[in-house]
Amino acid sequence: MSRPLSETRVSLTINGRPITASQSLSVIQALWYAGYPRVKGVGCLEGVCGSCRVMVCRKDSNELSMELGCQLLIENGMDVLFAVFDTPSHHHYQLSDIQSSWNIQTRFQSIFPEAEQCRHCHGCNAACPKGIDVETAVDLAVKGHFKECGDLFIDCVMCDLCMTSCPEFIEPNHVGLFARRVSAYFDTRPSNLINRLEAIRSGQMQVDTDDEEND
Ligand code: SF4
Ligand code: SF4
Repeated sequence: MSRPLSETRVSLTINGRPITASQSLSVIQALWYAGYPRVKGVGCLEGVCGSCRVMVCRKDSNELSMELGCQLLIENGMDVLFAVFDTPSHHHYQLSDIQSSWNIQTRFQSIFPEAEQCRHCHGCNAACPKGIDVETAVDLAVKGHFKECGDLFIDCVMCDLCMTSCPEFIEPNHVGLFARRVSAYFDTRPSNLINRLEAIRSGQMQVDTDDEEND
């Protein structure tokens, strides 16, 4: 059974078009209701969830926010602009190239070398319309906690807003995707042990293999 429309109507602008519609509609529904059958940028219709990102300026406010057109309810005096952009990732890898879970952190560092340069500027958190703690998740991946990182990204819809707001080109959403993929692909071993082995491999930690106690 469809939801009844609110009788209260609001007026706003979407992509420069003045629209008046029931306040119980989302931005996308309001566009359809007003006779604009928008396809470009609406993920549900294109098969890519998260691409209906919009820039929003509310009445009597100078602040701009990034939201998703499918979940944002319209308000009187709102100014909405669809942010349609193509942002292909520059991080490429094949899971099958990772020999075993012992190599995950080494491969992560070579695929996402920028991740260690995170400035903790909170830009990704501020941009995320799903309220994900993206910054912490990236930090978890850098420390080898891929399972925990992937869990934080569970609600990610790959809208790319964190990616476009990151000054270090880390592509945090793709860090999350990597973390979720390797967690599913491998029976990931304890992150503390992987960290220790990586420290030995990189020379940060010296191990005396001639030590009698190691015999
Ligand atoms: S983590 Fe990034 S890609 Fe995922 S929903 Fe948030 S802003 Fe969008
Ligand atoms: S936007 Fe980029 S640099 Fe800033 S906190 Fe997020 S991941 Fe780090």
